[in-house]
Order: sequence, then C-alpha cells, then structure tokens
Amino acid sequence: MTASGSDGSAAFRRALRRAAPHLARPLPWIGHDDPWAVLVSEVMLQQTQTSRVEEPWRRFLEAFPTPRQCADAPLSSVLRLWSGLGYHRRAKALHEAARRIRDDFDGAVPSDVAALRTLAGVGEYTANAVASFAFSRRVAVLDTNVGRVLARAIANRTLGLREARATAATLLPRRDVASFNQALLDLGAQYCTSTPRCAGCPLANACRWRREGGPDPAPRSAGVSRRQPPFEGSDRQVRGQVLAALRERELTPAKLARVGDGIEATRYATVLEGLVRDGLVERVGRSWRLAEGSP
Ligand code: SF4
Repeated sequence: MTASGSDGSAAFRRALRRAAPHLARPLPWIGHDDPWAVLVSEVMLQQTQTSRVEEPWRRFLEAFPTPRQCADAPLSSVLRLWSGLGYHRRAKALHEAARRIRDDFDGAVPSDVAALRTLAGVGEYTANAVASFAFSRRVAVLDTNVGRVLARAIANRTLGLREARATAATLLPRRDVASFNQALLDLGAQYCTSTPRCAGCPLANACRWRREGGPDPAPRSAGVSRRQPPFEGSDRQVRGQVLAALRERELTPAKLARVGDGIEATRYATVLEGLVRDGLVERVGRSWRLAEGSP
C-alpha cells in the first residue's frame, strides 16, 4: 500500500470507529456471547438476506440451544427448522458440523480459524467471522459488504483476492477487532451497498473513491458477490417447494409430482434426483421423505 494509502487507512479506521455507534444494527446475534449462536447466524447469513434470518435463527436456537442437541437430532428436524432460508445444503452441513463439534471438540465450538475451517459448511469468511465475533480473535472478515468497502473507500480500484485479504488485514485495528469488523459489515450493508448511498454516508470524508472519483471499483472486486439469477421459475424454487411439501408429510411420487402447478413432471424428477444426491431426501417404501441422516 502506498504512503497515502496507509494514511487513508488510518483516517478511515478512525472515522469508522467514530461512526460505529450510528451504524449499529439491532440484530440479535450481534454481541452474542455464545459461539454456537454466532456460528448458526453466520451459516444462515450465507446467501440469505439479514431480514430473513432473524426469525429462523431464534426458532433454531430454541430447538437446539447447543451443538450437542443439534447433533443428536435427525437431519429431518434440522431441515424442518430451515424453512424460509433456502439453500438447504447449508442445513445439512450445519448438522454435520454440530456432530463433529460433539464428537471431536467435546461439544464446544472451536475458537481458532484452522479448526473452524475443518467444520462442514465453514469457509474462510465464516471461520474468520466466528473467530472474531465469538472469540475476539484478531482476524479480518471479507464478505460481499466488506469487499465493496475495501474496493471503494480504501483502494479505489478493483481488488484481486490476495490484495483484498491484505488490505483487510492492514486495516485491522490493534484492539476491539470484533466491533471494528462489525462496523465494516454495517457500513457495507447500509451505505456501501451495490448502489451506494454516498450522500448520507458517515464515512464519505474518509472515502478514497468519493475523493478521487472514477468508475465504481466494487462490482468485480474479490469478495463481492455477483447478482443471483432470478428465483422465480428456478430449480431452487422447485427444490424449495418439494422440501416444503415433505416437511409436512411423506409423499408418494404421484403426490409429489402434484406439489406445484404448471411444472413438468420431468423437472420434478430432476430436482428430486438432486435432493437425493445431496442427502436431503430419501425413499422409504413407496414414499419420499426428508432424510434422517446417519446416526
Ligand atoms: S462514501 Fe460511498 S463509496 Fe465511500 S464508503 Fe460511503 S457509501 Fe461507500
């Protein structure tokens, strides 16, 4: 990073500290001191809007307040609680992670990034987020929100993955890393969005893109997610319909094929095949049901 970039980072860090109380969102998992609750929130937040996570997160932790309770339940119970979140492979991964935590970590979510990365469904971002938010480890978090902020406010250019990681690490303060990381996420979620709201942004005076101008560097930068294809009419929608029906009861193939109007039977067959392959649905006698998972 250049000297002016370093100076810019220090000014940005100070400005973010000052703005943090105004950026804070009243989300129930923020500041939560239970690492399991934090891990569940981070898995649910992968690919899902924050507003859609609050209710399922509460419901899930009421049913499974500890990893052990989740691990001891059949997969079908976890899939029932996943209602409204989509991307059900995450539910299966979380169930597997809970079993691993029960069997290999004595029921306690591990605190270091390397151990967290060995859990199913836990990638770089999720491991760092849990280590930072639940265990106050000095690690950077790089998701789509933070990726946009780094590209615009710090670098004012499109960042490759290594550069984005290095920029995020350089930006970290020496203390109170969790609240700093949270403020970065809050900024990206509320102001530095895909279409940025620079006019009201409390970081505007410390933002390099705002100062220097130029094309928006965020869209192709590391960590920044691409636009998802439309949900309506997608296989994801059909998967959701099939799983929603199976949450209610076991169904024969004929009944299952009538779950959604106007969708060809062959489409259902393909979707069902995928669900079986993913270990989310299984056959019992002549019917289909949510998978129980191995004991
Ligand atoms: S001024 Fe605009 S680009 Fe800069 S941090 Fe704020 S919202 Fe993002």
